[in-house]
This record gives sequence, C-alpha cells and structure tokens, in this order.
Amino acid sequence: MKKYLYLILIFIISCHKPYESVSVNLNVSQVPQLENWGIQAKNLITIWCPRIARVLDVEEYPHNIDLTLQKSDEGIAYADSNAITVSSHWIEKYPGDIGLIVHEAVHVVQLYPEFDPGWVTEGIADYIRWHLYEKKPLEWFPIGGEEKGYEAAYRITGGVE
Ligand SMILES: [Zn+2]
Repeated sequence: MKKYLYLILIFIISCHKPYESVSVNLNVSQVPQLENWGIQAKNLITIWCPRIARVLDVEEYPHNIDLTLQKSDEGIAYADSNAITVSSHWIEKYPGDIGLIVHEAVHVVQLYPEFDPGWVTEGIADYIRWHLYEKKPLEWFPIGGEEKGYEAAYRITGGVE
C-alpha cells in the first residue's frame, strides 16, 4: 500500500505547476505571411518555458503567454510580463534567429520584481539561449573588457564560468 502512496505522491509532484504545460496565444494578424515563423516560435516557448523554470528553480510564472509578431521597422523583440513581441523586419531579415524567442521566454519566467541589475537579468537570458539552447560552449562567449568585466551583460555575463 505504501508503495502506491509514493507513486501517487510522485504523480502529484510531477503535475505541480512548473511542469504544467504553457499555452501560447499567437497573434500574427499584422503580418500573416510570418505565420510559420510564429508557429515555430510558439512551439519553442511551449517546450522551453518549463525547462527554463527548472534551470532557474522558479515555481510560479505565467502559463498563458501572448506572442505577437508586430509589423515594425525597428527593434528586435521584448518581453513584458506574460507578453512577448517580435518586430517583423527582424524576422524578415534574420528568419534563422528564432533562438531570440528562448531569450525572451527567460524574461517571462524570470518575472523579477525589478529589472536591475540588468546585466544579471540579460546575462542569464543569454546563457540559457546560447549555451543551453544553441549549445554554444562557454569558450564561445566573449570575454568582457577590463572596464565592466562580467557586468557587461548579455553574452559576456552569460559565458562567465
Ligand atoms: Zn533581454
């Protein structure tokens, strides 16, 4: 009997929030020609959010995420609470840069009450994107200059061993 209780317990734990599936609401109404890219991005978010939550040891994060491909000639992408927005011109120029979605998904899971220190927030996002998702070895990451060192954020912070 005890054995079954353990199994039930394991089942309950494995159904706990971080492993709950994420649902992504994709909006391509402004740029319907980019729908395929949007679907790929949506799938990446669904697969990677629970992984990111495990890496960061985060239990609570938004499980309903809005992904909007915005018709725009500027910017790349940004995350704001549970919403990720990507600019159309960037996708048109660099369709292979889908990994940026992993970086933005990290921000959704992070949900820090404050962005600062930004170099930590961005460094973690780039570490997960470039090292865990793109499988770049840590030697690939650029080394920071004397001035800012590991606090230079993005790939420089992400690659600090
Ligand atoms: Zn970022």
